Amino acid sequence: MEGALIARDRVGVQDFVLLDSHTSETAFLNNLRKRYQENLIYTYIGTLLVSVNPYKELDIYTMTQMQLYRGVNFFELPPHLYAIADNAYRVMCSEYNNHFILISGESGAGKTEASKKILQYYAVTCPTTEQLQIVRDRLLLSNPVLEAFGNAKTLRNDNSSRFGKYMDIQFDFKGAPVGGHILSYLIEKSRVVHQNHGERNFHIFYQLLEGGDKDLLCWLGLERNPQKYSYLIQGRCAKVFSINDKNDWKIVRKAFSIIDFSEKDIEHLFGIVASVLHFGNIQFEEDSNGHAIIRNGTQIKWISKLLGVHLSILQEALTHRKIEARSEEVLSPLNVDLAFYARDAVAKAIYGRTFTWLVNKINGSLANKDSTRKTVIGLLDIYGFEVLDTNSFEQFCINYCNEKLQQLLIEMTLKAEQEEYELEGIEWEPIPYFNNKIICDLVEQKYKGIISILDEECLRPGEATDLSFLEKLEEKVGDHAHFVTRKLADQKTRKSIDWVDFRLLHYAGEVTYCAVGFLEKNNDLLYRNLKEVLCNSKNGIIRDCFLLSELDNRRRPETVATQFKNSLTSLIEILMSKEPSYVRCIKPNENKEPGKFDDYLIRHQVKYLGLMEHLRVRRAGFAYRRKYELFLQRYKSLCPATWPHWHGPAAEGVERLIKYIGYKPEEYKLGSLFCPRVQAKYKGCLGKREYK
Ligand code: ATP
Ligand code: MG
Repeated sequence: MEGALIARDRVGVQDFVLLDSHTSETAFLNNLRKRYQENLIYTYIGTLLVSVNPYKELDIYTMTQMQLYRGVNFFELPPHLYAIADNAYRVMCSEYNNHFILISGESGAGKTEASKKILQYYAVTCPTTEQLQIVRDRLLLSNPVLEAFGNAKTLRNDNSSRFGKYMDIQFDFKGAPVGGHILSYLIEKSRVVHQNHGERNFHIFYQLLEGGDKDLLCWLGLERNPQKYSYLIQGRCAKVFSINDKNDWKIVRKAFSIIDFSEKDIEHLFGIVASVLHFGNIQFEEDSNGHAIIRNGTQIKWISKLLGVHLSILQEALTHRKIEARSEEVLSPLNVDLAFYARDAVAKAIYGRTFTWLVNKINGSLANKDSTRKTVIGLLDIYGFEVLDTNSFEQFCINYCNEKLQQLLIEMTLKAEQEEYELEGIEWEPIPYFNNKIICDLVEQKYKGIISILDEECLRPGEATDLSFLEKLEEKVGDHAHFVTRKLADQKTRKSIDWVDFRLLHYAGEVTYCAVGFLEKNNDLLYRNLKEVLCNSKNGIIRDCFLLSELDNRRRPETVATQFKNSLTSLIEILMSKEPSYVRCIKPNENKEPGKFDDYLIRHQVKYLGLMEHLRVRRAGFAYRRKYELFLQRYKSLCPATWPHWHGPAAEGVERLIKYIGYKPEEYKLGSLFCPRVQAKYKGCLGKREYK
């Protein structure tokens, strides 16, 4: 007993629910710190897993560990991602329902690593056949490909995901993984043409230059040195110590062949990657009329070859804009600034759409064509809340997404939990929590929300500007409690605000957004003649990405923010129809340093991840709950009266069973018959939870 107490003192408790001082944030932090210092990076709050990034390799992901967690009751082993994965899997198999695991946390907290480890766990522990081996390999290898094209080195993370990802793993009735499907969200296209100091473009560019063989680079018209490419050097850190581009290139190349990319696909794909680099090196100068002309024809020749587009038409499209005037098309020359703008717009469009093509292509290879019913486990690895020195449209979208996911968590855990007790007629003292619905509404409400206001401004081309958008915001949502206008800045947050900024008080903290570029990024315009060039490309991927139907002027494409809003709404619908598991990742310090536990930084994350509220709700509630029928089915063998068959109502059978086992009245509650549940308190119903 004494030994156990000393051990507990050293390594803390493995479930926060067991903390003596469960309402104190300091006790919470102390427990997390103790465990982190002992390399125990995982701790539960009931069935939610809190994970702190170790920033070093731990030997807890071996095959032996995977086998250890396989099929074992959740609370019987120390907390682990594998326990979360295994639990979702086992419930899916026994109850034949769909699940998702939501992995959240800020940039660098370990979301992507966690989702990869879960996928590996399924790949190793689920039953498979030789035939299914290929599906397994494709599921695993889709990661390096998507990371090459969708991840980049940022100041916060050397392998930061710059897109959101939701992946369904499909299982057949035997529990074997038989297919998958990926949804991607809003890739950060602006990175293609601009990177902040200390950051890089997407990995694939550097991988290609470092790893591509001589013949390939020669065919693409590329030099090996990244310093030669304007799109690769703005962050001034083409080489990163922790990244081995050459090696990663080999992995990506191998992945392509397993995921069923044809040689033609690969040729077209790298033709596009190289073209983006060539676009970046196109320079314009002014002719005597002040119009833009291309300074050197080399790059454009390469692009014309690689994308299979007509050289002179491309040249014209980069320096002119086609305008329709009185049902006539007129070519209007661009000035140098606009020509650079058009060049960057086309590079971003090509890259962004190629990324979507890539996801579709991978989906094609993961698709399971047989029509038997399948169950799924979805893994959601989506960008965390972001506060940079300058926050733009991208951060606005990312943080809005985090508000939506927080809302989902509230709906599915805090609110749902409390409502369930009410429905069951079980006594319950409400726990206060901040409901961020008010912020979601501020952003997404029809007509009155920020996205609607932004879209409205985008409908006034030539008249509206980022500043007029700001003015509209002030007029329409200026008095909202979570919006800070320039006029009210000092009163609401005691901090002044720049004249081009607006500030939102998010659930996770306040963020100041610079409105410059909002309209342009939301419109995401590509000049019509550039679109025409691409629609007629001989490069198969480009042709798939730019359809002739887009040239129809009567169709006004949805704005970026609205598309994003709609895709988030359908994501939330997908998630709401499944059983949730949560992994909350915490970043221990800003320096990517192992062993360093920055109290201030972690306290902030504990706060905004809502971990204390979650703990309080968990403490007040019952850890294990099952419908009467399922409960009886599972445990009837423990009581002579219910074994082998119980012929009366299930609720009565459960009551007999519980009494026979000898639980004290305060250890369980029976829910109302309308919503039949049996709930047993922390000791666990059967198979007592042992805490080491
Ligand atoms: P972003 O939102 O920027 O994509 P993220 O939450 O996905 O961030 P990861 O890329 O998963 O963060 O993790 C960042 C880095 O932290 C990894 O590259 C790895 O070096 C380290 N790391 C994360 N989790 C672990 C782990 N379980 N074990 C060892 N190292 C880890
Ligand atoms: Mg990531």
